[in-house]
Amino acid sequence: MTRVVIVGAGFAGLSAMEELQGIDADVTLIDKHNFATFQPLLYQVATAGLNPGDVAFPVRTMLRHHKRVTFRQGILSSVDSAANEIGLLDGSRIPYDYLVLALGATTNYFGVPGAQANCDAIYTLDEALAVRNKVFAMFEWAASHGMKDFNLTTVVVGGGATGVEMAGALAELKQRALKTDYPALDPSSARVILIEAQDRLLAAFSPSLSKYALSELQSRGVEVRLNTAVKAVHNNGVELADGELIDSKLMVWGAGVGVDSAVRSLGLAHLKNGRIEVGSDLRVVGANNIFSVGDVAGTTAADGTLLPQLAQPAIQTGKHAAGSIKALINGETTTAFKYKDKGTMATIGRRAAVAELSGGLKLTGSAAWLAWLALHLMTLLGVRNRLSVLLNWSWHYISWGRGPKVILGG
Ligand SMILES: Cc1cc2nc3c(=O)[nH]c(=O)nc-3n(C[C@H](O)[C@H](O)[C@H](O)COP(=O)(O)OP(=O)(O)OC[C@H]3O[C@@H](n4cnc5c(N)ncnc54)[C@H](O)[C@@H]3O)c2cc1C
Repeated sequence: MTRVVIVGAGFAGLSAMEELQGIDADVTLIDKHNFATFQPLLYQVATAGLNPGDVAFPVRTMLRHHKRVTFRQGILSSVDSAANEIGLLDGSRIPYDYLVLALGATTNYFGVPGAQANCDAIYTLDEALAVRNKVFAMFEWAASHGMKDFNLTTVVVGGGATGVEMAGALAELKQRALKTDYPALDPSSARVILIEAQDRLLAAFSPSLSKYALSELQSRGVEVRLNTAVKAVHNNGVELADGELIDSKLMVWGAGVGVDSAVRSLGLAHLKNGRIEVGSDLRVVGANNIFSVGDVAGTTAADGTLLPQLAQPAIQTGKHAAGSIKALINGETTTAFKYKDKGTMATIGRRAAVAELSGGLKLTGSAAWLAWLALHLMTLLGVRNRLSVLLNWSWHYISWGRGPKVILGG
C-alpha cells in the first residue's frame, strides 16, 4: 500500500489531507501539537478577546471523518531522502512513498540584539497566552500595590497586519478593561506604541488603506512611530536607532516571519531566507517524492516573486501538492501550481478594518470589518469553535467588554 506522510497540521497540511481523502493509500499526519492552531486569531487570545480553545482544534476530532489517516504527535528531526524515511525527535523512523512538508514559519527577529530574549511573540498559542498573562499580571500588580501611575506601556514592533491588529486590540482592551475592572489605575499610563521602520503601516496594502489604518489606530489612542528603527531590545524597554529608550515591561514582536533554523538542517534544497526550494509542481528541488507547501516553502507566483506567508497560499499549495501525489499514484504527470490571489484583509478594531480584494476592490470601515468577521468565522475549524467565537464576538460587541481576563499557569 502506498504510504503518504504529511508533517504539519496547519492550513497547508490539513488542506493536503482533505484533498487526499478517498485515495487508495495510508496517510500519516504528524504534528508536534495534537491540535491545529488558527493563527490569524491568536492576537485575540493575547488580548482576552477569545479563549485559547476557540482557536485550537484537536486533530483527532478531525480524523473521525478520515478513516485512512493516522495521527501521530511528534517532532520531525530528519529527512533521509535516500532511504525514503523521516526521523522524529523521539528516535522513531517513519517510512514514506510520498512526503509532504508543511512545517509553517516562525518569528524572525532579524538579528536585532535582545529582541528574542526580551520580546514576546504571538506565533503559537503558548506565546499568545504568555502575552495575555503578562498584560493582566501588570494590571493586577499595579492595582494591588496602589500604583495608579505605574508604567503599563506596551510596545508593539512591526506595522504589518500582525502588529496593527495587536496594537488595535491592545488599545481597546486597555481603554475598556482599565475603566471597568481596574478603576484604581490611570488609563493614560497604559500607552500602546506601535513602531514601524517603513514610512507607512500595512506595506502589503495600497497606500490609501495604510493611511486609513494609521488614522484609525491614532483615533484609538495608539501612538504610531513610522520611519523608526529598533536598534536593540532590553529587559526594561526598546532602544531606537536614534538612542531613545522607550521604557516598557511588555514588548511584542510582530515584525517578521522566518523559517525555523532546524529546517535548514534537514538537508533539503532551500533559498537564502531558509524557505524550502520547490519546483513548479511543488516538489522539493532535487527530490522526486517530497513536496513542500505553505509558509515553509519558497513557492513563487507567476511573475517569479515569492508568495506571501498567508493562509490562502498555504491552503492552495497543500491542495495542489496532494493533487500531484494523486496524479503520480495513478501514473499520470503533475501540473504546475498557479496561485489564485483572493486578496488580503486586516482588522484594526471595532468596526474598522481594511480589505483589498482581487480585482482591485478596496474596503474600509464597517464593510471591511464585517467581511473580515465573516471570513474568519467561515475559515475556523469546527462548528463548536465557530459558534463559540460568534457568541464571544457578539457579546463583546453588545457589552463593550472583553472576555477571559484570567491569568493562567500561576
Ligand atoms: C499572529 C498571526 C496572524 C496571522 N494573520 C493572518 C491573516 O489575517 N490572514 C492570513 O491569510 N494569514 C495570517 N497569518 C498567517 C497564516 O496563519 C499562515 O500563513 C498559515 O498558518 C500558514 O499555514 P502552514 O500550514 O504553512 O503553517 P502553520 O499553520 O504554521 O502550520 C504548521 C504546523 O507544523 C507544525 N510543525 C512545525 N514544525 C514541526 C516539526 N518539526 N515537527 C512536527 N510538526 C511541526 C506546527 O505545530 C504547525 O501545526 C497569521 C499568522 C500569525 C502568526
